[in-house]
Amino acid sequence: KKRIFSGMQPSGVITLGNYLGALKNWTKLQDEYDCLYCIVDMHAITVRQDPVKLRKQAKDLLVQYLAVGLDPEKNIIYYQSHVPQHAELAWILNCYTYMGELNRMTQFKDKCAKHADNINAGLFTYPSLMAADILLYQTDLVPVGEDQRQHLELTRDIAQRFNGIYGDVFKVPDAYIGKVGARVMALQEPTKKMSKSDENQNNIITLMDDPKVIMNKMKRAMTDSDTEVRFAEEKPGISNLLSIYCAVTGKTIAEAEKEFAGAGYGTFKTAVGEAVVAELEPVQKRVKELEANKDYLDAIIKSGAEKASRLADRTLTKVQKKVGFPPRI
Ligand code: ATP
Ligand code: MG
Repeated sequence: KKRIFSGMQPSGVITLGNYLGALKNWTKLQDEYDCLYCIVDMHAITVRQDPVKLRKQAKDLLVQYLAVGLDPEKNIIYYQSHVPQHAELAWILNCYTYMGELNRMTQFKDKCAKHADNINAGLFTYPSLMAADILLYQTDLVPVGEDQRQHLELTRDIAQRFNGIYGDVFKVPDAYIGKVGARVMALQEPTKKMSKSDENQNNIITLMDDPKVIMNKMKRAMTDSDTEVRFAEEKPGISNLLSIYCAVTGKTIAEAEKEFAGAGYGTFKTAVGEAVVAELEPVQKRVKELEANKDYLDAIIKSGAEKASRLADRTLTKVQKKVGFPPRI
């Protein structure tokens, strides 16, 4: 079986974007691939986090991974900080990554603009930690959204550079391209992506939003002065809602356009909201059940870390030897 690695930051509550762009697709991969799904808490502290909140968000994220249907028997689900090999390999890879390469990363530039008061070295070297995450497990495929493509490209460059010096140490991973229509945009600013760290709550729908809240946010979503429910570049708001509707219902854009021909935006938005509610309600119910089951969660946390650690050690030991670290006695 081919191996897949992916992760999510516990930097906020999971959004509909994370769900449709990543999580939902992950559940479809679990039978065909060997998957590791990490909760990348070490990445999350590149931006200042409140420790109490971060711990809660990490726990919530684990519960949400499970609630959407990721099976802990089929996948390795774990916290990044519980597997120290990530940090160890990241340090080594940092020494094989150029400043110039990191400087070109658009996410770094974006985050610098957003967090001008805290432009720390971790934010800068974020991509080498991400490379370590992926390369530690000899990953074949990485399902990433468009926003992570550049980082994956860099991971490949680092792997190839290292292999070029020391022989075949790392598998060079490929991007796993999921189905289209999975890029969800911010509801009130549909030209930028929906992001869980967005301060404007009306821009995002979270996995845990109440049905009423979802309907309300939908109502407030930005549209345009036209009245036609049609997918078009000049109609980013309506196009975004159409994509969401189709991703959730499995309908095609053409089918949806036909369904809402002449219906008006109000009717359309209500239908999108209801479709999203129907999709998320069972997930929310599962979350409640899982939250009541602390022992079960603890067992997953423990065994996930053990399984990941065992795999990670194989690669790390090889790398340490290649670069010339003395063997442990
Ligand atoms: P942050 O704002 O903290 O970066 P985020 O919402 O971008 O949060 P990440 O943890 O960076 O979330 O990404 C988790 C996964 O979700 C990645 O695979 C990413 O590509 C995907 N993703 C994030 N936002 C969207 C979106 N709007 N549409 C589709 N996929 C998304
Ligand atoms: Mg992101």
